[in-house]
Amino acid sequence: MAKIEICSLKLYSLIAELENMNEKSFRAKQVYEWLHKKNKWDFNEMTNLSKDLRNKLNESFFITEGTIAEKLTSDDNTSKYLFRLSNNSIIESVLMKHTFGNSVCVSSQAGCNMGCAFCYSTKDGKERDLTTGEMLLQVYKIQEDLGERISHVVIMGSGEPLENYENCLNFIEILSSKEGLNISQRHITLSTCGLVDKIYNLADRKLQINLALSLHASNDEMRKHIMPIARAYSMEEIFKACDYYAEKTGRRITYEYALMKGINDGEKTASELVKRLKGRLCHVNLIPVNETEDKKFERPSQKTIKEFADILEKSGVATTIRREMGSSINAACGQLRGRYTRENE
Ligand code: SAH
Repeated sequence: MAKIEICSLKLYSLIAELENMNEKSFRAKQVYEWLHKKNKWDFNEMTNLSKDLRNKLNESFFITEGTIAEKLTSDDNTSKYLFRLSNNSIIESVLMKHTFGNSVCVSSQAGCNMGCAFCYSTKDGKERDLTTGEMLLQVYKIQEDLGERISHVVIMGSGEPLENYENCLNFIEILSSKEGLNISQRHITLSTCGLVDKIYNLADRKLQINLALSLHASNDEMRKHIMPIARAYSMEEIFKACDYYAEKTGRRITYEYALMKGINDGEKTASELVKRLKGRLCHVNLIPVNETEDKKFERPSQKTIKEFADILEKSGVATTIRREMGSSINAACGQLRGRYTRENE
């Protein structure tokens, strides 16, 4: 029989598995705490279990594989980690040290299929979905490396999380479980390019996580130009789904908006955005685009960015300009993974 990936199991599933092996449920809780609270991913280190049980676990389960292949730190408290997973998949995660806590940006897929024109992660398409264990591994290994608690997690690395829906939800539930790291769901953010059906599903789960929607445009024509997903769903459909999410959860939506010179940064665009967002439970996060090598997408001037933000703010749309972090270490979406896989081919 094929072994089961133990790090991807929620507590109740682990209890069921161990009961099948005639083990008491408190044993499952002990194993779960080793994995998800103490983050010891080695059966031999689970010292309060008998040798016999550890052998049994080894026979039925396997532990998710993954090691830090490279780490780069920039001077602004941002580190980028490259992980090597099973099948030699390479993924990247980012640690950001904020005043409010340590935040990790995790990848949900190796590569991505969404095809956004300005994004590095999608250049070579999707290799595969990550398992729940592979998403947890990113947080646990970074926490261990840092030696400090991770308090915030954003699912905003490579990949489209709502395309890897069940694994992402499992990840969130394990991460926020009290027998695990117990990270508050209010400190977890999932970012999507807007898979509308899945947003409704997520809303009905009534989690307390924050939803970030990558909008990047003020109308469908503009959005189609840079994001293929816009051909599948209109912005009106997205807004409806996001309003539903906000209504069900009481959580305000974050609209991510990467400002790209000459593409989506004009005053008319800002006014159009205001018309569409005013009155909604949301705020806008403006991000000066991380420039691509071919210079197809360039950052607007500070003046343009400020003017764009002012139009939104003055019209009552809450807006923040994201502080750039880590651009000196290729922390922009998929840049480092792309470089690493090209150099090591
Ligand atoms: N697929 C999900 C999550 C991964 S992308 C999503 O689309 O939201 C994480 C965020 O980074 C998204 O808002 C994405 O649009 C943005 N992003 C991608 N490439 C970027 C770039 N070059 N500059 C700025 N933001 C970028």
